[in-house]
Amino acid sequence: MTAQALEQRELAVVIGLEVHVQLETATKIFCSCSTEPAEDEEPNTRVCPVCLGLPGALPVLNEAAVESAVKIGKALNADIAEDTRFHRKNYYYPDLPKNFQITQYDAPICADGTLEVSVEGTRRDIGITRAHLEEDPGSLQHKGGSIDTADYTLVNYNRAGTPLVEIVTEPDFRSPQETRAFLAKLEEVLEYLGVFDATRDGSLRIDANISLVPADEVDDDGAISDDALEAANRTEVKNISSHKGAEKALAYEVTRQKNAIQRGRAVEQETRHWDESRGITVSMRSKEEEKDYRYFREADLPPLQVAHWKEEIPIPELPDARRERFRTEYGIDEESASKLTSTKEVADFFEDVAAEFDADLAATWVADNLLGELNYRDMHITDVSDRLDEFTRLVELVAADEVTTKNAEEIVLREMLDEGKDPDTIVNEAGLGKADDDEIGGFVQEAIDENPDAVEDYHNGEGGALNFLVGQVMQKSQGSADPGTVNQLLRERLDE
Ligand code: ADP
Ligand code: MG
Ligand code: ZN
Repeated sequence: MTAQALEQRELAVVIGLEVHVQLETATKIFCSCSTEPAEDEEPNTRVCPVCLGLPGALPVLNEAAVESAVKIGKALNADIAEDTRFHRKNYYYPDLPKNFQITQYDAPICADGTLEVSVEGTRRDIGITRAHLEEDPGSLQHKGGSIDTADYTLVNYNRAGTPLVEIVTEPDFRSPQETRAFLAKLEEVLEYLGVFDATRDGSLRIDANISLVPADEVDDDGAISDDALEAANRTEVKNISSHKGAEKALAYEVTRQKNAIQRGRAVEQETRHWDESRGITVSMRSKEEEKDYRYFREADLPPLQVAHWKEEIPIPELPDARRERFRTEYGIDEESASKLTSTKEVADFFEDVAAEFDADLAATWVADNLLGELNYRDMHITDVSDRLDEFTRLVELVAADEVTTKNAEEIVLREMLDEGKDPDTIVNEAGLGKADDDEIGGFVQEAIDENPDAVEDYHNGEGGALNFLVGQVMQKSQGSADPGTVNQLLRERLDE
């Protein structure tokens, strides 16, 4: 469609994502080099003839990478292929030492899945076209500027050969906001599967395809005909590495494309680069086509058959299902259930605590107190996973009324996190154990004996006198007495 014709019509946003997920395997996808960067690692040290693409070196497929891909396929309700193959995608780029990338082409390991996302209460199913295995290229460091302005560029092959799964979605997104919700959900699922670590730098890399199509081409269900998709000129934005980055880059692109169309110019079909620091996309090259890559079979790897094996690969209960179960099984509200299922580790931790106490008490202590304090300290549940016994002991002290809730929250829990001490030690050292009634009785008598004036005032009907005496008892008990009990005991003695 010409730009002039588009200019007159209302436009709808169409977005499809290609998400590269770094798999958490110990070794690279085709060699035994580690995937874990050493501390202060030198460039080009975590490499071998295979991942450097030296002549004669042969790839051997990493079983753990295949297992992760099958898990991802199952979690996305995708079909896992009976027969799957690898191809060579040929192109020259300095980060690619073989001059081809081993990837999958016409027989990806997973195809035809979905992932449900919800944006402001509206649920949408995003179609997953395919998910395939491939190797990561090396990484480039642009010196003295960004990709289009740098003085020179350095290459590091330590990352080359890291296993990736590329997840390609249908063009089902209708706003940048939806892509952000999708990426958050996807990451949550991947973490539950234990195949992915979001805290790793560059573990999620996103290419976003975006076009504007006439709004009347979108039917009531949000579907768009293949012809309209084909007719739309789209850009592919590369170098996006976060959920927020995706939303920002796409919002920028929507405005840029709308402006072009309003000025009667066509949107170029091209590849653009998201410049995070400048908050803009810049043109890189006209969009390459499939035929440019001369795909052909990777003869050094045999076809892969996972049909029998895939049945034996279990996946855990996924976040949506777990959230729902927490609500029905433990009767906790939606907000707490969401917090408690935010990661698998938090959910596991909660269930361990809930096994010993009332679910409401466990939910309050994990969702509100513990997560709140962790968050405040920029800590994660994984920092305390091995201290479950100590945490359970703290809740036990509260449940048995041995420490006041206030002291448990404000002193014991905080010191546990700040100083790594166990709750009993903190309670003993700080004398926080709740005083028993005998002990309080003793403090009450002392306060009466030591303050005859206040006692007299009390008998003369001066309201402040009782409060003064309560304060004296609280001080003697170092805050471990319950003020209500003290008040009652004092009155009983004074009125005798
Ligand atoms: P290519 O081979 O050019 O990469 P694909 O058909 O494999 O194209 O699609 C790549 C991505 O582009 C997919 O995520 C798909 O959803 C998305 N896509 C396809 N058509 C459009 C469109 N008109 N607007 C936005 N994204 C689109
Ligand atoms: Mg593509
Ligand atoms: Zn290697």
